[in-house]
Amino acid sequence: MAVPVDTRNIFTVDLEEWFHICGVGGALAPTNWDRLPARVEQTTRTLLDLLDLIQVRATFFVVGWVGDRYPHLIEAVLAAGHEIGSHGYQHARAYDLGPDPFREDLLASIRALAGAGAGRVTMFRAPEWSITDRSFWALQTLVEEGVKVDASMAPTRIVGAVTNLRHPHLRHTPAGTITEVPPFVVDRFGQAMPMGWGWGLRMSSPRRVLRAIAAVNRAGVPAVLTVHPWELDPDPPRVRLPARLQFAHYFRLSGFRERLRDILSAAPFGCIGDMAGVPIP
Ligand SMILES: [Zn+2]
Repeated sequence: MAVPVDTRNIFTVDLEEWFHICGVGGALAPTNWDRLPARVEQTTRTLLDLLDLIQVRATFFVVGWVGDRYPHLIEAVLAAGHEIGSHGYQHARAYDLGPDPFREDLLASIRALAGAGAGRVTMFRAPEWSITDRSFWALQTLVEEGVKVDASMAPTRIVGAVTNLRHPHLRHTPAGTITEVPPFVVDRFGQAMPMGWGWGLRMSSPRRVLRAIAAVNRAGVPAVLTVHPWELDPDPPRVRLPARLQFAHYFRLSGFRERLRDILSAAPFGCIGDMAGVPIP
């Protein structure tokens, strides 16, 4: 069932460190995280300053590991009027964790964010859009643990599934319903392209993104955009990654802050909680 929405678009942030990359080991393995250069505080403050400048409220999906180490950063996000959801504790994919570890990781993140002053969070995004046909059980776990909104199901072939819906909708599980808020894609080059996040958002001119947003808004659908603080880092630490991840992480970072400002200030944006029709307590 579709959820009725106004045509305000949604801006979200996955609040994580630059080294929170799924599926890589070696120097970026979780056991090394505390020894890697810390950038999340500085880059999140850059993002908060930008959102303050253009007066946009966002939903921040925070990695619990970050919440535990930087509670004052979570306080700053809340004090600026934004809302907080969970992005897992260890930034692991749902289908890599499996059912029981997924629940433990979710609960650890909920505890960390409550400890940082966010209260009990009711929104969630799985790292790397990892609620797919390999992990549909995760939706039921989310409902059982009090989560009302999930934003983990990308409608693309590379991540998620092309058959995933492109508009906010309700999903039914044996434990109850949950509102799914998918990220923004457009059809380009013969396939669904991530226009709302990652390389797809960074490669596109603000004019092209705004035209695409206007087109879905005319059909009554909000565009859901997502960025990471590390995409605004003027001097990101450079590491060797597999080719796909290299592209996802480093392609066209230059000037992204300015392009993002131009996009967010030229169309109406708000956080998920601002969406009409979303049953958020
Ligand atoms: Zn992430």
